[in-house]
Amino acid sequence: MKKQRVVVLGATGSVGANTLDVIARHPERYEVFALTAATKVDALLKQCVQFRPAFAVMTGEPHGRELARQVESLGLPTKVLWSAADLSMVAAHEEVDVVMAAIVGAAGLAPCLAAARAGKRLLLANKEALVLGGEVFLGAVRQGGATLLPIDSEHSAIFQSLPDDPATWNERVEKIILTASGGPFRTRDPATLHDVTPDQACAHPNWIMGRKISVDSATMMNKALEVIEACYLFGLPPRRIEVVIHPQSIIHSMVQYHDASVVAQLGTPDMRVPIAYGLAWPERVASGAAALDFLSLPPMTFEPADAVRFPGLRLAWQALEAPAGTTAVLNAANEVAVEAFLAGRIRFDQILEVNLATLDGVTISKPGSLDDLLALDALTRGKAGQEVRRIGIP
Ligand code: NAD
Ligand code: MG
Repeated sequence: MKKQRVVVLGATGSVGANTLDVIARHPERYEVFALTAATKVDALLKQCVQFRPAFAVMTGEPHGRELARQVESLGLPTKVLWSAADLSMVAAHEEVDVVMAAIVGAAGLAPCLAAARAGKRLLLANKEALVLGGEVFLGAVRQGGATLLPIDSEHSAIFQSLPDDPATWNERVEKIILTASGGPFRTRDPATLHDVTPDQACAHPNWIMGRKISVDSATMMNKALEVIEACYLFGLPPRRIEVVIHPQSIIHSMVQYHDASVVAQLGTPDMRVPIAYGLAWPERVASGAAALDFLSLPPMTFEPADAVRFPGLRLAWQALEAPAGTTAVLNAANEVAVEAFLAGRIRFDQILEVNLATLDGVTISKPGSLDDLLALDALTRGKAGQEVRRIGIP
């Protein structure tokens, strides 16, 4: 069997590192063609030493030059690059079979589109790229004949629970039920959420993840983004997607059929499971994750997603039913708000305020291309930045 050549975009992050862990378990199946990172030169260098990729791409010249110097001094075969266009170049490279999209945020959209247009197997962890890209993203996948596979654990679970033929999903499925852990503040008095710190918001009970998605999990905006992601990936109308809180994160999501039968995917909360599934689909390979031990599991419990505690969640359905481009605005507003919260410029409860004010304040015209999307993203960031300055901590 020919080895699959893999590009890992966002290799130094939580999903990136888990991807390399799975790849390292199967040297006969996969080889690393390119690795990319924003700023962590030492971490990317270590990965270059272990995987000896053809390319390494850093964001920005200073980091790129520093990595290039170290790669050369170690005599590695890796060519180091540092322009934004290089991310898309490696993602679409003719020698590449698989692209893991594990950059966080809108910065991942352009290389995702490049991989989609080039017909790659595109493993999507970078949900912001799809929430921003919407129909333009899906159009690029169709046009390029790419295979888009979900890596988000919920969407991997849904994909594993759906019938094989995507053409039957809309007709055969009654609804999709996304599970949510409820994050670190599930039981905390909502009236006390104004003074939580970034570290408290990032302390997720079940998953170790990057800081942006951790804050999103605490506000439930992560689930809102995932509802939008599910709509785009599986083509069901928004009203047939539901969310239920399941604090143990054992059931990763479910599909309900017309006969009241529910098919679910279960497993330990370990991202290597959906990553291994995406890499090997339709086959399965060892992921390194521990299997569930049913006899020692805690009881599985379920709760409604409380609209008072998690007021941001409903924005998903509102954005999906609003004119095209609204999900892009919601995503950009939220990225700015989360960044401002992590930098101590707004309070935790003001993330929603920034999102609402920005959604109200941006005039949307339907995006039809990557340039349109990037313009809408930039416009929204400008507006959200104004809101941060207006309401922010002096
Ligand atoms: P992370 O912060 O740990 O890693 C992000 C990676 O992207 C890093 O390698 C970083 O160098 C790179 N990066 C950041 N900004 C960049 C930029 N502007 N340009 C180029 N590269 C940039 O994040 P993560 O937790 O690994 O999440 C990555 C994506 O996967 C996110 O979209 C997240 O929502 C999604 N996701 C993560 C998990 C998880 O368990 N961590 C689960 C499901 C989905
Ligand atoms: Mg998820």
